[in-house]
Amino acid sequence: MWLSEVMLQQTTTAHAGPYFAKFLARWPTVDALAAAPDEAIMAEWAGLGYYSRARNAIACARAVAGRGGFPDTEEELRALPGLGAYTAAAVAAIAFGRRAVVVDANVERVVARLFAIDEPLPGARKAIRAAAERITPARRPGDFAQAMMDLGATICTPRDPKCLLCPLSTECRALAQGRQAELPVKAAKKARPTREGTAFWIEREGQVWLVTRPPKGLLGGMRALPDDRWTARRDGGGDPPLSGAWRAGGVVRHTFTHFDLELGLAIYAGDKWRELDGGEWWPVAELDAAGLPTLFAKAARLATAE
Ligand code: SF4
Repeated sequence: MWLSEVMLQQTTTAHAGPYFAKFLARWPTVDALAAAPDEAIMAEWAGLGYYSRARNAIACARAVAGRGGFPDTEEELRALPGLGAYTAAAVAAIAFGRRAVVVDANVERVVARLFAIDEPLPGARKAIRAAAERITPARRPGDFAQAMMDLGATICTPRDPKCLLCPLSTECRALAQGRQAELPVKAAKKARPTREGTAFWIEREGQVWLVTRPPKGLLGGMRALPDDRWTARRDGGGDPPLSGAWRAGGVVRHTFTHFDLELGLAIYAGDKWRELDGGEWWPVAELDAAGLPTLFAKAARLATAE
């Protein structure tokens, strides 16, 4: 339950499902996950995105194993690594039957319509939460939470809600006012910036040079191609990790939550490999096992397709 909620943060069920099955088959208990090496977990997570979740899941599994099991109150769950307000409430309600107010994007939409809350999101979250609190029952709070989420996912959908089928139709203010398509109101989105960076492909005798990214920050702790230190806030400096000749190998485009990245690929044509430091040679034929995040896996495909 906890692992599924972590994997489903910002991710669709269709995308997360196979990862969830793989994780449960390989590490069927939280103790097994806690005992697994970081690199093995990060490699299994590769491609699922939002890698800070994987790092938090490792820390959380170890904290839970260390205390002999999950705590069963929302407050204590909230104190575990990676459990935000929503996840702590969902686990408390669904796994432990505690009364907790569970508000995800689906519930947000249902409640905003049910009570005709006009204030735009995200500012409306406080009012939506207060309204959700009023209707959360003490009996079977987990079933209530799941029913509300399912209602939002299948009936009270963002476009064309199926109000004729809805069990809340007699109570719904948006429906009574004919405003279900307008609600919830969303504030205009900020323009998403585009960042530029470079990844460096250094190949020698069928092996490519890989580094492990610093533990904190974007794609932290993941194996990757060396790059020119682009971040969400600034473009890369373009400086290669090695002197000698480089040639352009194409561009990879990737979308992160808050920015788009245009990642140029530079391919090494020199012979100063001895200058390299702080990484590892990895067989190109076994790159699938390196657990590269999607961005670098795309860059590697570009380099090997040449
Ligand atoms: S009646 Fe329509 S708008 Fe209201 S909660 Fe049901 S599906 Fe959503």
